[in-house]
Amino acid sequence: MDLQEQPHRRYNPLTGEWVLVSPHRTQRPWQGRVENPAAQDEPAYDPACYLCPGNIRANGHRNPDYTAQFVFDNDFPALLPDASAGRMNEEELLVAESERGLCRVVCFCPQHNLTLAKMSVDEIRPVVDTWADQFQILLSLPNISHVQIFENRGAEMGASNPHPHCQIWANQTLPNEPAKERQSLGEYALAHDSCLLCDYLALEQKHAQRIVCENDSFVHLVPFWAVWPFETLLVSKRHVSGLDDLSERERNDLAAILKHLSRRYDDLFSVPFPYSMGFHQRTSEDGSRDLFHLHAHYYPPLLRSATVRKFLVGYELLGMPQRDITAEAAAQRLRDTPLA
Ligand SMILES: [Zn+2]
Ligand SMILES: [Zn+2]
Ligand SMILES: [Zn+2]
Repeated sequence: MDLQEQPHRRYNPLTGEWVLVSPHRTQRPWQGRVENPAAQDEPAYDPACYLCPGNIRANGHRNPDYTAQFVFDNDFPALLPDASAGRMNEEELLVAESERGLCRVVCFCPQHNLTLAKMSVDEIRPVVDTWADQFQILLSLPNISHVQIFENRGAEMGASNPHPHCQIWANQTLPNEPAKERQSLGEYALAHDSCLLCDYLALEQKHAQRIVCENDSFVHLVPFWAVWPFETLLVSKRHVSGLDDLSERERNDLAAILKHLSRRYDDLFSVPFPYSMGFHQRTSEDGSRDLFHLHAHYYPPLLRSATVRKFLVGYELLGMPQRDITAEAAAQRLRDTPLA
């Protein structure tokens, strides 16, 4: 089967879902426009930013004059720790449950105008430690079984503030995506007596077609089943179940590859690349350490240039997701992008 010429569908073993790939629509040579949008000159400190040190937030709290990372409970959280327990079920058609949890914000650094691409590896490293600490602390709380660390970057992804930060939402129950992965990882472990992602990584390293870059501890690749044009997966080489399991050296390597892949994304279309990214890690359930393999998903919306984005609409909402550029071609594009 020629995956570079013919329409086909690819299976995502992590979610059990399929994506339609239509490479025949991209036979023409690459027609990417290189645009150089006006450079956004953000100041190092913005008096109107609710995340900058010393500023007052909407609820009246004043941020400390922090000099490294700053973690605080979200002022407008989507989840509350003390929601009263309840459940409704009317003929298994009208079903609802109460959900407890909490939401935090992590500022990566005091400077308003930095990004992971612009921060040094030494500056990113303590961000990794903060994520690992928060993951461990939140996962050990009563009524919390899942911790989602995620970053929305860019107005295209609905990020309301350019100040470098991420969010952490911790829930009582497993959200949809990790729940699908738990199911798939469990079924695979039962059938093969090994880890799906360990085996997948070995295959990707054997073929070396979709790998964008790697270091001693992590591989950054375009997954075979990617939906978004430049979707990528960051996978730890060692089977660890969470950021808190990483050794000192692995944390350094994670900081280094985070900076590297952010630069690659930025340089692809010569813009600060918008994306949603997040880590998938173990849950508080028994056996989760064996089952979950630390990885991060990157979902960037851009397709051809700084201004041409992909939308999941029409057939994709009603049928299944579809892409034209193959995962292999996307990996090649990212690999070939010279770093400015
Ligand atoms: Zn700021
Ligand atoms: Zn594994
Ligand atoms: Zn995942």
